[in-house]
Amino acid sequence: MLGSGYPVLVLKEGTTRESGRSAQEKNIMVAQAIAEAVRTTLGPKGADKMLVDSLGDVVITNDGATILKELDVEHPTAKMLIEVAKAQDEECKDGTVTSVVLAAELLKRAGELMNQKIHPTVIVDGYRMAAEKAVEVLKNIAREVKPEDAEALKKVATTAMTGKISDSFKDYLAELAVNAVRRVAEEKDGRIRVDIDNIKVEKKHGGSIKDSRIVEGVILDKEVVHPGMPKEVKDAKILLLNQGLEVKKTEFDATIRITSPEQLQAFLNEEEKMLKDMVEKIKASGANVVLCQKGIDDMAQHFLAKAGIYAVRRVKKSDMEKLAKATGGKIVNNIKEFTSEDLGKAERVYQEKVGDENMTFVEGCPGARSVSVLLRGGSEHVVDELERSFHDAIGVVGVALEDGYVTPGGGAAAVEIARELRKYAVDVGGRQQMAIEAFADAVEIVPKTLAENAGLDPIDTLIELRDAHKDEKGKWMGLNVMNGKIEDMWKLNVLEPLRVGRQAILGATEAAGMILRIDDIIAAKKGESKGGEEGGKSGDEEE
Ligand code: ADP
Ligand code: MG
Repeated sequence: MLGSGYPVLVLKEGTTRESGRSAQEKNIMVAQAIAEAVRTTLGPKGADKMLVDSLGDVVITNDGATILKELDVEHPTAKMLIEVAKAQDEECKDGTVTSVVLAAELLKRAGELMNQKIHPTVIVDGYRMAAEKAVEVLKNIAREVKPEDAEALKKVATTAMTGKISDSFKDYLAELAVNAVRRVAEEKDGRIRVDIDNIKVEKKHGGSIKDSRIVEGVILDKEVVHPGMPKEVKDAKILLLNQGLEVKKTEFDATIRITSPEQLQAFLNEEEKMLKDMVEKIKASGANVVLCQKGIDDMAQHFLAKAGIYAVRRVKKSDMEKLAKATGGKIVNNIKEFTSEDLGKAERVYQEKVGDENMTFVEGCPGARSVSVLLRGGSEHVVDELERSFHDAIGVVGVALEDGYVTPGGGAAAVEIARELRKYAVDVGGRQQMAIEAFADAVEIVPKTLAENAGLDPIDTLIELRDAHKDEKGKWMGLNVMNGKIEDMWKLNVLEPLRVGRQAILGATEAAGMILRIDDIIAAKKGESKGGEEGGKSGDEEE
């Protein structure tokens, strides 16, 4: 309307801009590409991925969160999908691939609706209604699990580990996971709370997975600093020290002129005396174990050994905090200012050879909410993947214990949700009806992908599943990927916490909605806005 015909340039030269349908199409395509990278890992029959980073380090994994974390993506839509996975991982430790695959499928179906000239706002609106309804359906089919029901909790753990750990060890690890989680569970205001950060997982390769065990206390990947120290201390009184047992070097360069051997001796004696005094002080407090966050000087090591004290140096800060919680000790910042009351307690502190390295075990701690799990397994790659799956397992058991509800896996919940949504769509009617129906179709990507990854025909499987869900009794019917049959997931022990499904639906819907509302991608020329880009990069690296 202004000077028509003259392009008005408001953006810097080199800025690329994509608008309208083309921007939307591009975003949808990017989402498909991200989902494509992980969809083949979904389910127990999913494949593993080998990730090689720029330094040549290799990770072999079936864990969606890990794969997505390693993907170095640039496109903002891709980043948003990875955020979905991250949120899923943080909220419920499981269901990451499901959430990403679902988000991508929602976008794909939305693209089809847009081709039929349905406005994105209508789609976003319909999707939101569908998501709310889907969560309601999920709640309705959920079954209650009581904290005492160890068997059900074990099933939740095994479901999360199936396909990631060989079957012969699954039960053993599920038991470990349930026991560990129960130990850290606490009741607050009538609700159960589980902070899985209170479970310390240590891994050591070598040995068999069945050598993995729970330790009531803290395990440190450390050995005593001096061979003359005791290897075991019973009835331990532990000093948690956040100060080096060494003579501080001066900050500035000072030259000390020593003119005679006597002077040198006096100087050395003075250093020795300071260290000796420190150790005397420790001994006098009644401490027989020193766990030090900083260094311990040779001379101090010698004095400690002579005093029969078990000492370890350079303990990680996070471990120090766990130790404080577990032993009831205080972290002492200045050795001059502590009393025997600051010491932590443990029934036994000892060193044990695990694989070919010595580790320190602090066992029998008064703080009930501390437990460690030592994971063992053939090679480094094995224990790494074991650790990831074990984390999923304790995560889902914790979530199931906190919320007290489980839903069926194997695509059963998805098919039930889709069925209910199709009924609901008719009630809603209008243009939203199409969006809700599209949502129903999208949810079925879960059983379809599970089938595909198991080498089954996805369409045939879906038809069988829908058929099984025709009546009330069919709610829990899902795909047993091991034999390709449609079975009752409760009987098959394939259970997931309600929260995993709910978060996947809500997270995927939210991201899809956000992406659908975009109709303009304005990107600065590469390298132009240097400050911003570098800021973004370093932010990513901190993760
Ligand atoms: P995610 O990252 O989404 O958790 P997984 O690879 O862990 O992906 O796969 C989870 C899917 O596998 C869920 O849909 C779950 O119900 C399904 N699943 C797990 N165990 C079985 C089983 N024994 N039979 C069928 N499906 C299963
Ligand atoms: Mg999983």
